[in-house]
Amino acid sequence: MVCGVLTVSTPSAAQRKYNIEELPRIPVDTVDTADPRVKIITYTNNTWDYYLPDYESLANQSVYQEHWTTNEVFAYRDVKFADVPESMEIELVKSLDGYHPPVLGRVSSRYGPRGKGMHKGIDIGLPTGEPIYATFEGKVRYARYNSGGYGYLVILRHPNGLETYYGHLCKLNVKVNDYVVAGQVIGYGGNTGRSRGAHLHYEMRYADLTFDPERIIDFSTGDLKWQNFVLERGYFNISSKLTEALEEEDGDLGDMFVDKEGNPLSSEEIVDNLSKAAAKPKTTVNDVIYYKVKSGDNLYKIAAKYGTTVGNICKLNGIKSSTTLRIGQRLRVR
Ligand SMILES: [Zn+2]
Repeated sequence: MVCGVLTVSTPSAAQRKYNIEELPRIPVDTVDTADPRVKIITYTNNTWDYYLPDYESLANQSVYQEHWTTNEVFAYRDVKFADVPESMEIELVKSLDGYHPPVLGRVSSRYGPRGKGMHKGIDIGLPTGEPIYATFEGKVRYARYNSGGYGYLVILRHPNGLETYYGHLCKLNVKVNDYVVAGQVIGYGGNTGRSRGAHLHYEMRYADLTFDPERIIDFSTGDLKWQNFVLERGYFNISSKLTEALEEEDGDLGDMFVDKEGNPLSSEEIVDNLSKAAAKPKTTVNDVIYYKVKSGDNLYKIAAKYGTTVGNICKLNGIKSSTTLRIGQRLRVR
């Protein structure tokens, strides 16, 4: 512990009368340092201390011992939905610096039903390489490439038991079992996994169950909505524990047919985008994937979406490229 005395310009007459030792020493403020984990506490008598929390003992709390797995997305397989309390009060932060938005940007897809599946998180558009921040302090439970569609994925567990997921990253900046503070850069945003266009896929889970992160964060401003939050069992999506994979492809397919301003591209540019997308491997090659045809789909769009070719889809389904697709038709795309 290092201590010191802040330089005070012209002390008032009243201050001059007292020795520093006699003044009340009550913490008034904390000041950030270059290291996000180290703070300076200032006191009423103009003295200060460095403050470095004991991360080793924080990282050894029971919340990081029980149901702790670092090589699988889900850690609470033995916890049944019925075991989750009807309602629980969760302390999100102790102080204002206990929170940092994961990234600021346009919300491109919200939590909830999407297509035939369920979007288990919220998508925020970003340029590749944008720093992604830990929303709360906690311990890194998972930090690796995920072949279920998340791409490079970081999962943080927080002291209150909540977990936050950060998907499609281009690069990781933490490793499993690291202890991080709110606002620490855990990775960089990107377009890895089953993703179309660089964005952050952000989830909040409790006991592997998802709920809408917009209940806690206002993504238009980046602000935290509550210091203490009442998490109701009714907020959870029961099916969110069924699969570890992203059920639907993330992102905006429209980006391949329009430019950044939304103006239509020339057919050459579209073909170029589609062939680039087809060349990009999306999932592990052994996965068999079916796709349900939606309104407005055609074979070229679907092929691009799954990083394959029209020829391959035709072969897998015994159809011709000229075959008219029906809405709701199931196509094997891999
Ligand atoms: Zn998403």
